[in-house]
Amino acid sequence: MRSLFEPRLVNGAFGDPGLYIDFRDERRALLFDLGDITALPPRKLMRLSHVFVTHAHMDHFAGFDHLLRVVLGRKTGIALFGGPQFIAQVEHKLRAYSWNVVQRYEVELTIDVHEIGTDGRGQCARFSSRTGFARTDPVPFQWRDDILHEEPLLRVRGRFVDHGIPCIAYAIEEKARVKVDKDRLVALGFSTGAWLRDLKQAIITAAPADTPIGMQWRDRQGDHAMTRTVGELRHLALDVVPGQRIGYVTDLRYTEANVDTLVRLLADVDVLFIESVFLQEDAAHAAKKNHLTAQQAGEIARQVRARALVPFHFSPRYEGRETALIAQALSAWSGTPTVAG
Ligand SMILES: [Zn+2]
Ligand SMILES: [Zn+2]
Repeated sequence: MRSLFEPRLVNGAFGDPGLYIDFRDERRALLFDLGDITALPPRKLMRLSHVFVTHAHMDHFAGFDHLLRVVLGRKTGIALFGGPQFIAQVEHKLRAYSWNVVQRYEVELTIDVHEIGTDGRGQCARFSSRTGFARTDPVPFQWRDDILHEEPLLRVRGRFVDHGIPCIAYAIEEKARVKVDKDRLVALGFSTGAWLRDLKQAIITAAPADTPIGMQWRDRQGDHAMTRTVGELRHLALDVVPGQRIGYVTDLRYTEANVDTLVRLLADVDVLFIESVFLQEDAAHAAKKNHLTAQQAGEIARQVRARALVPFHFSPRYEGRETALIAQALSAWSGTPTVAG
């Protein structure tokens, strides 16, 4: 069954890290990390509702200016999430420009910046184009367990890992999905449309049977509109299945504490995007740089029982030896002996 999420790395494995998660059938997307994002066309950047940054090393945050430039004057709002000092880091970027005419832009852009503290406390500040991006006084930002963001259909969880500095590993989780009987739907003369999403949501959230669903769709006969209740439409649902879960893990040391954290965050994840910066023969160098080797990444994938693995964030020193990094990560993950590469 199709998932809501369509995850794709922003760049090739040697490029800046970043994961773009498009929402199927919706003009909406999430982005993880804000390095070089010029590979994403403006229409894709316009879809972003939330951007989650792991840490503020340049290869993960230098694309903030590009994003701002594309959305300014066109988009009304965007939410950013990051670790300690994140509000100040965004503010410093915004203060680097002169904003004497931005107040007059027809479309106001508000940037809500959520800062996650290692002490479990968070704060949120708003920057608006109407006020030349002056920072509002931060207000406390609460989260429960490790759930940093939650909506009816999805949640984003995060936990700190050690990268020499605190860095956030993320889990992106689609909530339970409703399988719909398309044949039954067609037999009743209905067609799919946005109403189907409303019905699925109502079923997942156990909405009362008399909850109305406004059905609208267009087919060869023209436009159709009617209202039915959840109770009347419930028989279209075949089954409720668990949603897709994605892990995005980059920039960390290989330590027992980090592995424990990732097991808690990502057990049985469907697909794990994980940095594999160095080959195992350079493990000492990897430790010095606070990064993983491909073998360590594969071992983490095995420990969290990831169903699929996508290694990325390769060091440029291995340019042309991509297959060796991939093979090392995959063999450690599957538990088969390393093929010399
Ligand atoms: Zn990095
Ligand atoms: Zn880093």
